[in-house]
Amino acid sequence: MSRHRLNEKQKTIRKSCRYSGITLHTGVRAHLTLKPAPEDTGIVIVRTDLPDQPNIKAIAANVVDVQRATTIANGNARVHTVEHVLAALYALGIDNAVIEMDGPEPPIADGSSAPYLDLIKHTGTKPLKGVKKYFVVKEPMYVESGESRLILLPRNNYQISCTVKYGDGLLDTQYLSISVNDDTFEHDICKARTFCLYKEIAELMVKGLIKGGSLDNAVVLKDGVIICKDKLRYEDEFVRHKILDIIGDLSLSGFRIIGEVLAVKPGHPLNVQLAKLILQNA
Ligand SMILES: [Zn+2]
Repeated sequence: MSRHRLNEKQKTIRKSCRYSGITLHTGVRAHLTLKPAPEDTGIVIVRTDLPDQPNIKAIAANVVDVQRATTIANGNARVHTVEHVLAALYALGIDNAVIEMDGPEPPIADGSSAPYLDLIKHTGTKPLKGVKKYFVVKEPMYVESGESRLILLPRNNYQISCTVKYGDGLLDTQYLSISVNDDTFEHDICKARTFCLYKEIAELMVKGLIKGGSLDNAVVLKDGVIICKDKLRYEDEFVRHKILDIIGDLSLSGFRIIGEVLAVKPGHPLNVQLAKLILQNA
């Protein structure tokens, strides 16, 4: 049975709340403030550090870059790595919010969505008058690129079934199928951290990225060995983080999705392509 009622009311957060921390790529201390917003606002990011404080609506049409993270822009105003905070907002059913940021990147926190989930849960939510916007999948849709595929199928809940594959040993195929709701997100998804391959690190540093990257906010994979602080939070943490990214990226469609995503080796480029396809078919 579906937990979703198609006449559910839109939600925002109950009051403003703030999170501060180091950013992954620029490596500076940043502040993020979540503020309530009226019905039909959607999720809007405001760059408070720029002249005239430009708004960037968190929708797929505003995505300008999908390398390593999802970047959205309005003219010259950009924000990147927005997917983890967006995933937490989506999972807790927040349809409308303003996210004020004092730079181009939110705090990476521990590389997961858990601190954002905790912040929003602690703050609470508030119902609004309008009904949520749903995209109910009626017929199969898919996007593909190289070995990556995302297929969207009719189903009576929002389900993500994901397969990843990273070389050999422990990091070989991981598969997980999960119904996306606030409970499963909190217990099974939100704590999964960002990860990268050891061989990618030098290249990212040369590009001037990951200045704030450390084992405090990422898991590193090297020759079948996992390098991380403490231990893995889930035995299959990688596939869970991929599902987290899919939830964040597909929220850029602006819809609550009722359907099953079958994901094979997904990544931001394909996730965003599917979000755009949803928008086109809505
Ligand atoms: Zn991620």
